Amino acid sequence: MNGAGSAERRPSRRRRRRRRGRTGGPVAAPSSNGRERQPNEAQESRGRTGGPVAAPSSNGSERQPDESKEPRGRTGGPVAAPSSNGREWQPDAAQEPQAQEPQESWFGGIKVSGLTARALESMGYQEPTSIQGEVIPLVQSGRDVVGQAQTGTGKTAAFGIPLVEMLDPSSREIQALVLTPTRELAMQVREDLFRIGQYRGVRTVAIYGGQAMSRQLTALEQTAHIVVGTPGRLMDHMERGTVRLDRLKIAVLDEADQMLDIGFAPDIEYILRRTPRSRQTLLFSATMPVPIKRLASRYLKSPAWVRVGGDAEPVDEVQQVYYEVSERERPSLLDELLRDKSRITQALVFRRTRMGVDRLESFLRRRGHDAQAIHGDMSQAQRSAVMRRFRAKELRTLVATNVAARGLDIPAISHVINFDMPDNLEEYVHRIGRTARMGKTGTAIIFVSEWDFPTLDLIQAHVGDHLRPADPLSLRR
Ligand code: AMP
Repeated sequence: MNGAGSAERRPSRRRRRRRRGRTGGPVAAPSSNGRERQPNEAQESRGRTGGPVAAPSSNGSERQPDESKEPRGRTGGPVAAPSSNGREWQPDAAQEPQAQEPQESWFGGIKVSGLTARALESMGYQEPTSIQGEVIPLVQSGRDVVGQAQTGTGKTAAFGIPLVEMLDPSSREIQALVLTPTRELAMQVREDLFRIGQYRGVRTVAIYGGQAMSRQLTALEQTAHIVVGTPGRLMDHMERGTVRLDRLKIAVLDEADQMLDIGFAPDIEYILRRTPRSRQTLLFSATMPVPIKRLASRYLKSPAWVRVGGDAEPVDEVQQVYYEVSERERPSLLDELLRDKSRITQALVFRRTRMGVDRLESFLRRRGHDAQAIHGDMSQAQRSAVMRRFRAKELRTLVATNVAARGLDIPAISHVINFDMPDNLEEYVHRIGRTARMGKTGTAIIFVSEWDFPTLDLIQAHVGDHLRPADPLSLRR
């Protein structure tokens, strides 16, 4: 799609309105089988919980250390020295001794412990990203923080680094909690926290639905300093008494807008009410609709507001193009686009429904494409296997529902394809945030059919000239 829009001027509004009346031939008109679309399929995406407005209590951009909080010095020094009574958790033998580690070190301009610096180096993190540069010092100073940032900006380490540093690995208490909307994100965050905390002896356990309870119980019994989980399963554990959060120092709400979208607001409330009031709270969200601001004003204390990019601003490096195509011609258009392997190296294709995802996967496979589906009807093991293949670049095309794709850390895919139109602007921004990550460029494509123009108008009103009609000839280049 590169350069697709450059040769063609944007059609005037009048021209586009006229085209909307057409139900027939697509702009790019590949052959069709027309059997794909099932308009009545149950939607996987759920409506937002909505709720009344409440402005955030403060947006103080200045630092004002919260006096009500206990000071939280960094533990800095050597790793988990549980030693004492033999019942406490002993760090893996594989972990290296920390005797020679410097007490303090630097990550860009941020002071971190020598052990964390070593972990970051082993992860290939040389400099903080912009959100890390802003958020880490605030969290280290004890502030509550609302961070507006999409996946791909480095937000996990933005909270992960200070979080890992403030914990006491010699304690057996759960000291930190990260709530995520999906199991995939929970697993990814756990993995990142594990790596950041690997030399400090910090134990992180992921808790999510779809995995045997017994496995999580064993992990919890062996000590968890950090619990990363989806709200539903975490509540199960709290009700059974297998997770206690009364010693929590810090709670993180990750992808808070998605959690509200899924309907987790009451669960978040249940969970936070069972944590100490003195806790530090961080909230991350790609978008800042009113219910998120309300959540922040309710559960965060005079938070600092940090924003990377504008409100619902798509990543600048994403090229955005749309194809006008009749509903029945969409599968064939996708087939044709995917044949250009030099341009589309990896694609994430969004559909609205689970059934739609399955049908499209079968269609693409019949056409010889390497495609796999991911959605909520699949077992956790199946989903993980697909994601592993996609991340390892063994799989070229992933067809996903919104919910399944939320929060997935997919490094540098070349294309996000909105096969079905997103329901709203925020969803679009989320979707296209899956490409052009960490400075790499990417392309987002939207298929626009008869009924999609109002949403296209909304998106276009927001992103303006960033979104252009694709040059139909680009298909046959
Ligand atoms: P996130 O927004 O947390 O999902 O991070 C997006 C990607 O950026 C992940 O693959 C991280 O491993 C990577 N990343 C995060 N911080 C840094 C950094 N400071 N330097 C290099 N890569 C990073």
